[in-house]
Parts: sequence; structure tokens; C-alpha cells
Amino acid sequence: MQSYNTPLGELKIELFGHAAVHFTIKGKNWYLDPYCDVCSFEGKTPADFILITHDHYDHYDEEALVHIVQDHTILVIPPVVPRKHYNYQVLQNGESCTLDDVKITAVPAYNIHNLNDQDQPFHPEGVGNGYILDLGGFKIYFAGDTEFIPFMKTLKEIDIAFLPKNLPYTMPDAEFVRAANTIKPAVLYPYHYFELNPKALRAEIDPQIKMVMNDHEY
Ligand code: ZN
Ligand code: ZN
Repeated sequence: MQSYNTPLGELKIELFGHAAVHFTIKGKNWYLDPYCDVCSFEGKTPADFILITHDHYDHYDEEALVHIVQDHTILVIPPVVPRKHYNYQVLQNGESCTLDDVKITAVPAYNIHNLNDQDQPFHPEGVGNGYILDLGGFKIYFAGDTEFIPFMKTLKEIDIAFLPKNLPYTMPDAEFVRAANTIKPAVLYPYHYFELNPKALRAEIDPQIKMVMNDHEY
């Protein structure tokens, strides 16, 4: 668990593994892509808000949701995620909403090079969301399942970036490093990885970027 000062107060971040993240701000509990295979969500603090990036089973997991959703919980989703019996705020790439003073913008997340066996991108452009959260000027970027896409070159003054690593669905190390060094967040969290070599990665990342890996700062 790491904590950061923001204009909206203390932000605490906890990673569960894969793309599942929990954070608290203004006394509210937020989750990103809760996923049962990496953590049991039974008994976890109930969610006020849940961000879901896309409909793949490792990001949209009903089994995880049942343990943390309450009547008042709002799920922020792209249109591709099925709507059942919860409260939803649907955002397409480029759309924004504000929940409890946190401005949420859905941004592109897709594959350019990585194709499935039908020669289609694992993540086609415009389907899934990354999210930028603006906490009174303190910005968090959750990239979603994506490669290093042109949109990332437009990002400025990101305080915390979560970037996915590993093939075939996201980025190999060299591309991850290019993306990170282009975005230049103050703090970088690799996530959605199957293997991680903190020392090797640290050596390639811009020394001005602080990295958090396996709950340690590097
Ligand atoms: Zn995916
Ligand atoms: Zn994924």
C-alpha cells in the first residue's frame, strides 16, 4: 500500500495483482478491474465506485463484483461491458464524468501489432477504455490493455501511471519502456504482467520516474 498527497486529500493505493487495483480518496473506495483469480474479494471493503476497462474475463469478473458491489455502487464501463443489475456510468473513449469530485475521462486502449489467430487485434481500437482520473489536478492514468499508442504521446503531467506489460495482449518490455519514458509520470506502476524483473526494468526506465513494483519503491 502506497500513499500520496493530492488536492483532494490522501490517496492510498493497493494492488491485488494482474490489473486489479484498489484505492481510497475522500473516504471512498474505488476499484479497477477486480478479478477473482488474483485475489478473493470476499470480505473486501465494499466499493463506492468501480472502473472496468473492457469485457475480457480478467477485467470484467462478475464473481469478484458480487463481493464488493452495494446498492449505491457505480460502475464506470465502456459500452462493450454487459449491463445487468447494477448502477452504470457508460463512457466511450473521449467522454468524461465526475464522481465525488474525481473527474474520470475514458481514453483509448488498443493493440496495433498484437493480433489474434483471425488476424484481428486482441483489443480493437475504440472498444476498451483506459482511464485518466483527475483528483483536483493530481492525475492518475490507468492505461488498460493497450500497446504504446499515439495517444500516450499527448499525455502531460501524469502523477501516477499504470502501464500493462507482457505479450501477447499488451507490451513487451522494450515497448513498455518506450511508453513509460514518453509519458514520464512521476510514479510508474507496471501492472497486468506475467513476469517482472524489477532490476532489469529499473535500469531502462528514466531515472526521474519513481517505480513501484511488488509493493516496493525502486
Ligand atoms: Zn484484454
Ligand atoms: Zn487483460
